Amino acid sequence: MAMEQTLCIIKPDAVSRNYIGRINTRIEERGMRIIALKMLWLSKSRAEEFYAVHRGRSFYEPLVSFMSSGPVVVQVLSGEDAINDYRKLIGKTNPLKAAPGTLRADFSGARHSGALYENALHGSDQLETARAEIPFFFKQHELHPR
Ligand code: UDP
Ligand code: MG
Repeated sequence: MAMEQTLCIIKPDAVSRNYIGRINTRIEERGMRIIALKMLWLSKSRAEEFYAVHRGRSFYEPLVSFMSSGPVVVQVLSGEDAINDYRKLIGKTNPLKAAPGTLRADFSGARHSGALYENALHGSDQLETARAEIPFFFKQHELHPR
């Protein structure tokens, strides 16, 4: 398996519920390494840009409003097969359908609000996506592979 880097965002629902540490413990226990991280509050226009691929979809407006509603943690994870492995760890996009024990099943705001966009985590879906999403937030010198 190839060593990969992937972009993880801990979304406002999980940050506001104080789940940063619990989520990162599960990521580290899985064997992935956090090689860059920061907390920031996305403007609506930055959130729109990040999710531009979904522009026009019915969930786009609520999604960008949610993603700019409070601070997020953005981080880069590295590991063997990290892109797919992390997607398995977080579970299905719909957090109410995510398997028990996945991060979205355990930490999503949707469990309380019913809003499906509140699914706790973002993960790059393939190599090309990761290669575009990581530089959206990080300069090369901010990554510390180890
Ligand atoms: N989303 C939503 N409803 C949908 C599909 C997606 O609210 O029917 C939100 C959800 O927060 C998701 C994000 O939009 O994480 C991006 O959607 P995508 O299909 O890329 O899912 P992901 O890659 O995050 O699993
Ligand atoms: Mg996606």
